[in-house]
Amino acid sequence: MQQPLIIDILTIFPEFFSSVFDCGIIRRAKAKRLVEINIWNLRDFTVDKHKKTDDRPFGGGEGMVMKPEPIFNAVEKILGTCNREEYAEGTKVILLSPQGSVFKQKMARELADKAKRLVLICGRYEGVDERVNEALVTDEISIGDYILSGGEPAAVVIVDAIVRLLPDALGCPMSSVRESFTENLLDYPQYTQPREYRGMRVPEILLSGNHAEIEKWRRQKAIEKTIKVRRDLLEKES
Ligand code: SAM
Repeated sequence: MQQPLIIDILTIFPEFFSSVFDCGIIRRAKAKRLVEINIWNLRDFTVDKHKKTDDRPFGGGEGMVMKPEPIFNAVEKILGTCNREEYAEGTKVILLSPQGSVFKQKMARELADKAKRLVLICGRYEGVDERVNEALVTDEISIGDYILSGGEPAAVVIVDAIVRLLPDALGCPMSSVRESFTENLLDYPQYTQPREYRGMRVPEILLSGNHAEIEKWRRQKAIEKTIKVRRDLLEKES
């Protein structure tokens, strides 16, 4: 039997995740044991009686920085080591960070195909003590060029994108093959019932039953949309 992908999320706000993985494709993937998702509260790994997970930045400046000890302790408990060289094959420790490589469908596909265990570290405040990056992290990942208040929404995005690509996660496996980004193209437009709504008719070609012509039309529409809104996808490997 296929081993589940294990995903461990380190956060100071475990309540953020209380229902987000309990619906739709992720809930079904968990029920089928394709994925196991564990939420770890970093406060449980603190080393002082006040359970401090952050402190003032050395060198001065605004805000707070997440302390290294709770994160090192959590990784050591979860993986049995906090020495990057000793991580088991297929293990990635990912720091969610606006300074990381931008997460793309190709990365989601690689992680879904090859990863066995993912530890996602959610930062808050001004970010995370750099020693976490230096010693523990295998991949620093951003979900886009904007600043979130914390890594938790980024963790949800990454988990969702990966889990739906796991074998058997989707009711219809072809769904993930024909989506936007798979061929550096956006998806084609979709229509359903009714055939006419508020004077807008479904394109005749889709009602024709001529599958070869429908394929051609869809490809053409996908190319037109990509040129209109994401020409960059056609110009470079994404
Ligand atoms: N001072 C940091 C900087 O300018 O690079 C921003 C810190 S941000 C307010 C707090 C946390 O949110 C980060 O440590 C990271 O975990 C998360 N975060 C913010 N934007 C993100 C993004 N685009 N992708 C992934 N994580 C993000």
